[in-house]
Amino acid sequence: MTKHPGNGQAGKVYLIGAGPGDPGLLTLKAKSCIEQADVVVYDYLASPSFLSYASKEAQCIYVGKKGGDHTLTQDKINQLLVEKANQGLNVARLKGGDPFVFGRGAEEAQKLLASGVRYEVIPGVTSAISAPAYAGIPVTHRDHTSFVSFITGHEDPTRKDSRMQWDLFAKSDATLVFLMGVKNLENIVTQLMDHGKSADTPVALVRWGTTPQQQTVTGTLATIVENVRQAKLKSPAVIVVGSVVDLRKELAWFDKTPLFGKRIVITRARAQASNLVADLTRLGAHCIEIPTIRIEPPPDNTLLIDAIHRIKDYDWLVFTSVNGVKYFFDTLFGLGKDVRVLGHLKFACIGPVTKQRLADYGIITDILPDTYRAESVVEAFSTAAINGKSVLLPRAKKARTILPEALAKMGADVDEVTAYVTVLEQDAGAELSDLLENGQIDAVTFTSSSTVSNFMSLLPSGEAVQLMKNITIASIGPITSDTIRSFGLKPTVEADAYTIDGLVGALLTHYTPGENT
Ligand code: SAH
Repeated sequence: MTKHPGNGQAGKVYLIGAGPGDPGLLTLKAKSCIEQADVVVYDYLASPSFLSYASKEAQCIYVGKKGGDHTLTQDKINQLLVEKANQGLNVARLKGGDPFVFGRGAEEAQKLLASGVRYEVIPGVTSAISAPAYAGIPVTHRDHTSFVSFITGHEDPTRKDSRMQWDLFAKSDATLVFLMGVKNLENIVTQLMDHGKSADTPVALVRWGTTPQQQTVTGTLATIVENVRQAKLKSPAVIVVGSVVDLRKELAWFDKTPLFGKRIVITRARAQASNLVADLTRLGAHCIEIPTIRIEPPPDNTLLIDAIHRIKDYDWLVFTSVNGVKYFFDTLFGLGKDVRVLGHLKFACIGPVTKQRLADYGIITDILPDTYRAESVVEAFSTAAINGKSVLLPRAKKARTILPEALAKMGADVDEVTAYVTVLEQDAGAELSDLLENGQIDAVTFTSSSTVSNFMSLLPSGEAVQLMKNITIASIGPITSDTIRSFGLKPTVEADAYTIDGLVGALLTHYTPGENT
């Protein structure tokens, strides 16, 4: 799709199926469409995480639709799509699941057609199939059924001219999948039994299928209403009726992932959180991102610029974090220089991830201490004849002094310059306290001392220890753990390797003891 905003040509509307919730179930075509859209229009069931694919200049418009609560009426949505396209903008219209399966996508297409607006349809993974699949329920199986029906569960039960063919549903051996039916469950069940379907027929409801909040309740036509009431299961859920539901006992997989259902807070800066979030999500956890810090270039970087101009005077360049690497190179490139000016240097990195980041710039690390402890740093440099050498250390403002002190003790001449600053994110305090108070958090991860102190400053003073009482506290290493203790809390688990992988491993061992040895 090509961009042509405001050049007099009409835009195009892409009716896109955003899938059922698992961000990995978005199609490649949908992703590329979102990336290139001028306007993204999305509703309640389309995962907001896809907005991160949109360009910075794109306008993102939420049009709601939760149960009866419509932020914009369907007419207004149609109007909006037409308006934007007529302004020459390309519109990505994101709809949950598949746009043509109970999504009113067809109505939007008809309206576009009538208004002369060009459109394309990008099918999506429908919840009608994928929510059952994530619950271990195949909608067809040769031994059970030869067909499957997708049925609206939304129809008013008192409607005189009902199109629901209850006798047909009841008599067939089809798998019946009802969407939008939670509120009508009792009516659906009664109709099926009144029309002759056996009270023993297995039934499952799958709520928020394919997401870490997925919840499944099973029973039979006779028991499901009471089971759902007890589980307090609400919309959105699909209702599956038929003997395939029994296969869940054998085929359930998603809710058996090791961290399934665990609600884990990520305190890392958003720009750095993606690996941790991806790893934990893959293990089934529900990640709640509450970044406590944001990484920014320093307000004054003259010392760094000066050091880069004098780079010939240095023998060693030492990085203690990926941010140090990133901001050093951003500044270097910003000055119109490239890596050739670094050819004479030796490089040290504290941590394998930092080493990897440096490798992204084509540079091999000469020294990598085993762990980030003063002793292992000293040990690692001991063979490097650092005495009398000039060392440049670009890193965070107000970083700890152990490393430069250790290097200076070994006879090095160390220049510490600020390459970036960590800024406190203050917006999330109220949300965080609410979640903790309501028992909606199982674990909190800390990836540095600054995430700990900033996290604590978000909580109401004096209440922090009480609010964190039953929470699993996961620390990336001993220094972070010390900071946790200094606030009167106890780290529940600590990473062995002081890395994100180590942190994920520690949580895994904590929640599934004995399975990971
Ligand atoms: N076009 C969508 C369906 C829209 S109708 C699709 O193809 O999936 C809205 C209904 O879809 C909800 O009431 C619920 O029954 C179902 N639904 C959507 N997402 C769901 C999910 N993640 N888990 C379970 N049901 C879901």
